[in-house]
Amino acid sequence: MCGVVGIYNHPEAANLAYLCLYALQHRGQESGGIVTSDGGELHSFRSMGLIPDIITPQVLETLPGKMAVGHVRYSTTGESRLQNVQPISMDFAGGQLALGHNGNLTNARILREMLEKSGSVFQSTMDTEVLLHLIAKSSKSHLPDRIAEALLQAVGAYCLVFVSKNQMIVARDPKGFRPLLLGKLDGGFVVVSESCALDLIGATLIREVDPGEMLIFQEGEMRSVRFALPEKRENRCIFEFIYFARPDSHIFGRDVYQMRKGFGRQLAKEQPAEGDVVIPVPDSGVPAAIGYSEVSGIPFQMGLIRNHYIGRTFIEPEQKIRDFGVKIKLNPVREVLNGKRVVVVDDSIVRGTTARKIVKMLREIGGAKEVHLRVSSPPTLGPCFYGMDTPTRKELIAANKSVEEIRQFVGADSLGYLSEAGLYWFEKGLAESFCDACFTGKYPTPVPDAHD
Ligand code: AMP
Repeated sequence: MCGVVGIYNHPEAANLAYLCLYALQHRGQESGGIVTSDGGELHSFRSMGLIPDIITPQVLETLPGKMAVGHVRYSTTGESRLQNVQPISMDFAGGQLALGHNGNLTNARILREMLEKSGSVFQSTMDTEVLLHLIAKSSKSHLPDRIAEALLQAVGAYCLVFVSKNQMIVARDPKGFRPLLLGKLDGGFVVVSESCALDLIGATLIREVDPGEMLIFQEGEMRSVRFALPEKRENRCIFEFIYFARPDSHIFGRDVYQMRKGFGRQLAKEQPAEGDVVIPVPDSGVPAAIGYSEVSGIPFQMGLIRNHYIGRTFIEPEQKIRDFGVKIKLNPVREVLNGKRVVVVDDSIVRGTTARKIVKMLREIGGAKEVHLRVSSPPTLGPCFYGMDTPTRKELIAANKSVEEIRQFVGADSLGYLSEAGLYWFEKGLAESFCDACFTGKYPTPVPDAHD
């Protein structure tokens, strides 16, 4: 998964892009980068690692200009290596162009084979590079037209920020899978994946970029054009609300925190439990657990404490400590749990391994008498082809086991999921405007063949 940012017409473009990426770090922790334009040429920095580690004050000094595109990446297509770090850039007949992409193209393999047959040579294994080749091959003369022509051939999820010498161009796919917001700051414009990035830099939210809309920033002005007709239904990713976006963000016209709390409230109605205490799996389960506690009347407590200082790698002791990976991240609070009937709320079960370790830990270290696991989303049945990092069907526990079998596997006294209908507690009929293919198997586009 990824996060993108675009800064237009601001003297501190690189610094602002850096801060936005900092706020969007949860959307991708493998690599990041910023490309700026000073009006004459592009300046690029890309590296593996976390934003504050890779983008130092010295790096920012090498990124002059009033326009910037920034990206944080967690690989979904293409391996995790430097060639695949974004923004990616190219030098073509139309000049220099950099691109940051959040999403995933479902027809990238077909397009790539077609391009390779006609002589294109690829530098990376990312789906995003396909777009640059289509743009380079376009017979149109203006960059926005070239981009529009390329996008009409692409299928899937994309929020894109392009920077050329003198233009910034932003586009969102016609189904609107991923969030993209437009803000303003001083005399400039800002485009970001989530509103928490606007908050950090003190920018004001103007509106969302519409599905099928292209924004062209040039000579200090913004112009909006449609490169695709509005779709009959949008396909906003419901999993952004469940897990992915930050709870302090406002996306798809709603507050993530309120949505998550609402999932928990609905879960308490659908899946009540006899418990003495409701605890979240931090951080992702916190708002849902608060909602569950409010409706059930069972007191909310922090029964698991998360260590926030874990880097991507930690040194494991030579002598294997059991369940070390989960223990270094979470530790139970005995005072809250000992002898209690514990209702533990998490946002999702994917492979089931985390839940299994947590249940064990709550009993063995925390002293819980009973553990009732409640999940604030339906069983995850299918992989995501639109940018979320879900494993293959084989690894998805709910695709292979019944709820009772999952309960046995994780070792809980009871297990309850939110229903598909319950996901849409917030508005009747709104399911029509969301993609919930990971729960329902109803994919809104054709999907690549080899997905089992
Ligand atoms: P597991 O069932 O062990 O695969 O992991 C489930 C946990 O991973 C839950 O606590 C979720 O909060 C978290 N999770 C769900 N989806 C993702 C994702 N796409 N990337 C990383 N973590 C996730």
